[in-house]
Amino acid sequence: MIIASKLQPENAIERKTVAAGDYSLNLIKAGQVVRIVDLEGNQAADTLFYNANNPSERYSATDTLREQGNLYLTAGSQLRSNDNNVMLEIVADTCGRHDTIGGACATESNTVRYDLEKRCMHACRDSWMLAIAEHPEYGIAKRDISHNINFFMNVPVTPEGGLTFEDGISAPGKYVELQAKMDIVMLVSNCPQLNNPCNGYNPTAIEWLAWDA
Ligand SMILES: [Zn+2]
Repeated sequence: MIIASKLQPENAIERKTVAAGDYSLNLIKAGQVVRIVDLEGNQAADTLFYNANNPSERYSATDTLREQGNLYLTAGSQLRSNDNNVMLEIVADTCGRHDTIGGACATESNTVRYDLEKRCMHACRDSWMLAIAEHPEYGIAKRDISHNINFFMNVPVTPEGGLTFEDGISAPGKYVELQAKMDIVMLVSNCPQLNNPCNGYNPTAIEWLAWDA
């Protein structure tokens, strides 16, 4: 569902560009709104959310999909935790659909899906592990790295129930906007994947902006 935001970038309290292949780890207070922007189009933003006061409570794809009765995330989707609490709600979306089934890339899956020699290529899971190692203050451990959202990534479910990574439906400047329902830690890997079309074979920068309630 396409819903544009009325929030103006000049009123944002924070604005950060995340280079291709880099990560972003930051706090979003309850009530604040965060917008993630696909600056150049067809760039997957592999994202995890945590309860800032208890990181063992985290985004859960299974709880989210079961409660909303739909496989895709878009405006109106309530992102739920493993305790079935609403963590964030998508309040605007100009892309129209986001994946939470495909998972994040890892060096291990790259070897299975593509080739043994892809083992050494940079992957989202590496970026997440680097993020939590460089920022122990958030209290997030390896065991908390779980199922994620792939903002802007196109993983259609076929009528037969199959999953494929397809060329993107996003475009330059498309964005998704979320309002936090609790204090949140947001961990984004700006996906470095080069072996499938999730980044158009050309990873590019994204940015995020935050507004006070
Ligand atoms: Zn990735």
